[in-house]
Amino acid sequence: MPTAAKKRDIDLSEFPPGALATYTRLVCLACIFDLFTEQLGLAPRTAYSEIKRHAPSPPDLTAHKPARPYFDSVEKHPRCPSCDAAKRWHARFTLHRVEGSKLTDAPRRALVKSLPKSDDQFQISDAKSTRRAVFFEWLDATGRSLDFADEGWLVAATRAYLERAEPKTDWAEVFDGLRSVRRSQRLAEGWQRDGARLFLAPALYGDALLVQYLLSRSHAHGGVTLEGRLTLRELVRRLRQIGYLEARGATQGDEFEILENLIEQLTGGDEPVKLHYILDRRDFLEKVKTVYAHYA
Ligand SMILES: [Zn+2]
Repeated sequence: MPTAAKKRDIDLSEFPPGALATYTRLVCLACIFDLFTEQLGLAPRTAYSEIKRHAPSPPDLTAHKPARPYFDSVEKHPRCPSCDAAKRWHARFTLHRVEGSKLTDAPRRALVKSLPKSDDQFQISDAKSTRRAVFFEWLDATGRSLDFADEGWLVAATRAYLERAEPKTDWAEVFDGLRSVRRSQRLAEGWQRDGARLFLAPALYGDALLVQYLLSRSHAHGGVTLEGRLTLRELVRRLRQIGYLEARGATQGDEFEILENLIEQLTGGDEPVKLHYILDRRDFLEKVKTVYAHYA
């Protein structure tokens, strides 16, 4: 029901898209009840009060391959891959991850304050990471959302990168009706839209090429970029030609050292970053109740 779904959505519009990630995963309550009642021998009532408190850790919901009792499915009527339980036994966890920064701290505090507190419908937790680790997680998630068979992915990847790099800009508006991304011959920094084309200054354009290369290099020999398919050596040569290496102070060393240096700057390296997790347990709590009613 769309109206119910709408009521359920929490308002995340204050967060720049590049600083927010949302993960959802199904959990099989038949598997969980089975564990507590059959294997641990608890009475249904005791099992119910234990299970109600269950909260997955972020890796349970973010890891590539889910482990029992969690699973992923895009089907309308999925079955649990472990016990074959039907949909009414499944619940969905939703996890929002906000990268801590000056831009996100105030809206995050306001959001957390506004959430209902009873029954731990939402659980809040923090974790420490580095800019580099967060960047590669973002790169990985972005890569899985793109269709590399469609050339439009190059523009989509550029947009995703810009959303991260310059979160204050309304990129949805900038990319509305956009047909191509080019390197600007005039701009020393920043970007400019001209008709259906977006022009990027060499530093931003070089970042975009690097991101495209990193996204696609595992899919093919070399990587595919707005400048065509490039091996690492060709990429570095191209980046040198457009003045990107000079702009980043990365002119020394062989191509591997240069790539490492560029990645360090692109990602932010070992600089610490705080991750804030908001776990939405509402669907889980509802379904646990229903399933318990069936057991009791
Ligand atoms: Zn199951």
